[in-house]
Amino acid sequence: MKVARFHAPGDIRIEDVAEPIAGAGEVKIRVRNCSTCGTDVKIYKHGHHHIRPPRVMGHEIAGEIVGVGEGVTGWEPGDRVQVIAAIPCGQCEECRRGHMTVCPNQESMGYHYDGGFAQYMVVPAKVLAVGGLNRIPDELGFAEASVAEPLACVLNGQELARVGEDDDVVVMGAGPIGCLHVRLARSRGAGRVFLADLNADRLAMAAALVRPDATICAGDTDVVDEVLKLTGGRGADVVITAAASGTAQQQALQMTARQGRVSFFGGLPKDDPIIQVDSNLVHYRELTIVGANGSSPAHNARALQLIAEGAVPVSDLITHRLPLAEVLDAIDIVSRGAAIKVTIEP
Ligand SMILES: [Zn+2]
Ligand SMILES: [Zn+2]
Repeated sequence: MKVARFHAPGDIRIEDVAEPIAGAGEVKIRVRNCSTCGTDVKIYKHGHHHIRPPRVMGHEIAGEIVGVGEGVTGWEPGDRVQVIAAIPCGQCEECRRGHMTVCPNQESMGYHYDGGFAQYMVVPAKVLAVGGLNRIPDELGFAEASVAEPLACVLNGQELARVGEDDDVVVMGAGPIGCLHVRLARSRGAGRVFLADLNADRLAMAAALVRPDATICAGDTDVVDEVLKLTGGRGADVVITAAASGTAQQQALQMTARQGRVSFFGGLPKDDPIIQVDSNLVHYRELTIVGANGSSPAHNARALQLIAEGAVPVSDLITHRLPLAEVLDAIDIVSRGAAIKVTIEP
């Protein structure tokens, strides 16, 4: 079978390898869609300390079961499934307390295990053990189902930031994650949703799809001023930074309303993670700053449901569908911000 394997930074190869076999507790799937995101770009450029090459990449996975290992019950060939990306251990103190997104023993598809940029893939027993395999509703395509994983992360972020009825929400970053944040905020009853990005073209492309109440091009406007203007000086109830930008994080704190919540959804580069915070803003305005680290199996199941019932449409966000042989083109398109969602069809 064909796979796309990471060998070293800048070195991803399309290779022929033997099909994997489902061992005890595992299932084998025919991958139908594995979508790409900024994480794949990061791995391609810099590698990752959890990846020991060669490793099949790809973590936004949907496919069809073709083989079931010994001891697996409830699944059979032909079942259409979506697979979680982050695998909690299910046994540590955090997992027992229900904090699966911050399991210190977390492993990931495409990092510790071969991922979905492949014609066939084995779903590890650990994924099944934590309920990480979700049945795709009949009416839903594989490509849409593969977007359940990033939407699950977005859902985790908005739950932590308590996005709700009538909230004015600012999303900073108009990539696929930003688009999903806008759509999910709407489905949670947000009042107005504003979308900001440095890149005017990307902002226009995203806005045409997700229709925010206003766009703010951070390249030529002061975002803080603009948000204060749009909200009558009050600021936004929730500001989400869906970009790896310390500047965006600092701006977020300056445009959050009293008792507002700031989500540092996107992480910062490992070598530059320090920002300046006016602690008195947090103190007197009673702000809450939250993070977001991936998603739990339960978030994946709910995200898939939200997509299936039309609460968060994603099909129009999938702007590019490419075969496995063009995975490098896909990564290039994503890195240039020239697409919303790019999915690989192996
Ligand atoms: Zn991703
Ligand atoms: Zn755990």
